[in-house]
Amino acid sequence: MTALGRALAARIAADGPIGVDAYMAACLGDPEHGYYRTKSGIGAAGDFTTAPEISQIFGELIGLWLADRWQAAGSPAIFDLVELGPGRGVLMQDALRAAAKTLPAFVGAARLHLVDISAPLRAEQRRRLGRYNPVFCESLAEIRSDAPLFLVANEFFDALPARQFVRRGDAWRERLVGRHDGALRFVDGPAVDFRRQDAPDGAVVETSPVGEAIARDIAGRIVRQGGAALAIDYGTAVSGWGDTLQAVRAHKRANVFDDPGECDLTVHVDFPALAAAARSEGASCTGIVGQGAFLARLGLPVRLGQLVRANPGAGEIVAASRRLLDPGEMGTLFKAMAIGQKSHGLPPGFTDEFEA
Ligand code: SAH
Repeated sequence: MTALGRALAARIAADGPIGVDAYMAACLGDPEHGYYRTKSGIGAAGDFTTAPEISQIFGELIGLWLADRWQAAGSPAIFDLVELGPGRGVLMQDALRAAAKTLPAFVGAARLHLVDISAPLRAEQRRRLGRYNPVFCESLAEIRSDAPLFLVANEFFDALPARQFVRRGDAWRERLVGRHDGALRFVDGPAVDFRRQDAPDGAVVETSPVGEAIARDIAGRIVRQGGAALAIDYGTAVSGWGDTLQAVRAHKRANVFDDPGECDLTVHVDFPALAAAARSEGASCTGIVGQGAFLARLGLPVRLGQLVRANPGAGEIVAASRRLLDPGEMGTLFKAMAIGQKSHGLPPGFTDEFEA
């Protein structure tokens, strides 16, 4: 077991089982041993690959989306451009390059903030984005500003600590991490005041109090200061149940209790819960759409055509776009949702509702 695994086992032996949220928070964010504190696991040589790492078109289209929202808000002279969990900085690099070509004033008005807890990834962000003089911070709460906020978060909410509850007959118990014969394992905690009547006996329901608090913070800022936010992640358009906690290492699924701190841990994002949190602050939310449909509406095929003409014979450009779009790949499992102000109209890429 890893040093972090031994420390968690000792903590559980002394104080009793811990929440799945505490387990995730330690595995990912422990200041000394947490996965994101110590590793830059993104990309082919790492543990997992993300959309901006697959194709430059992803970040480019998001850059144009943000610039469009800025224009819809009346092109404020100064605004905060925030990325939550920027990883290696690839998305923002592509976004700013594309926006600078189309709407240079957008880039000129932006005060870039990169919110991340990872020292190794921050070094990569500084290398790619240093010329935009970014402010580095570890949480959105650290950004104290009354300027309009334009924000993007790709595969950020899935890394936030989730709680799990399990139905046992008419009672609900929090699912906790305990130990047995020296190994970590799930145990039922005491009965809790939690209800999800439509879930069957034995069902596991997940909640993300940290994610919902961040959604409320984003929404409150947008209502008071103006702006828009875009979240893309893998998750559900309808809140359901099921244990989605998973560990990934070297592009393969791993056991969530193997080598704490050495694997990426994620849960599926409950988008309706984030939308409800944002609406509780008075912001408007779009419907929740598949990543493929979202990118196609933003014009991915047009941009792909340009790149293919400029790079004849580069079949990997087409293959990369397929990965982002295809329902069997990232096209439907990944979802997009935007938070904004109704007065600025429906954001590009979304089709129907935009309601507070
Ligand atoms: N958006 C990037 C990276 C996704 S991986 C991409 O698409 O490639 C998740 C990112 O969120 C990493 O950069 C990680 O360091 C960061 N992160 C994870 N938990 C965080 C937290 N609690 N607060 C801030 N950043 C966090």
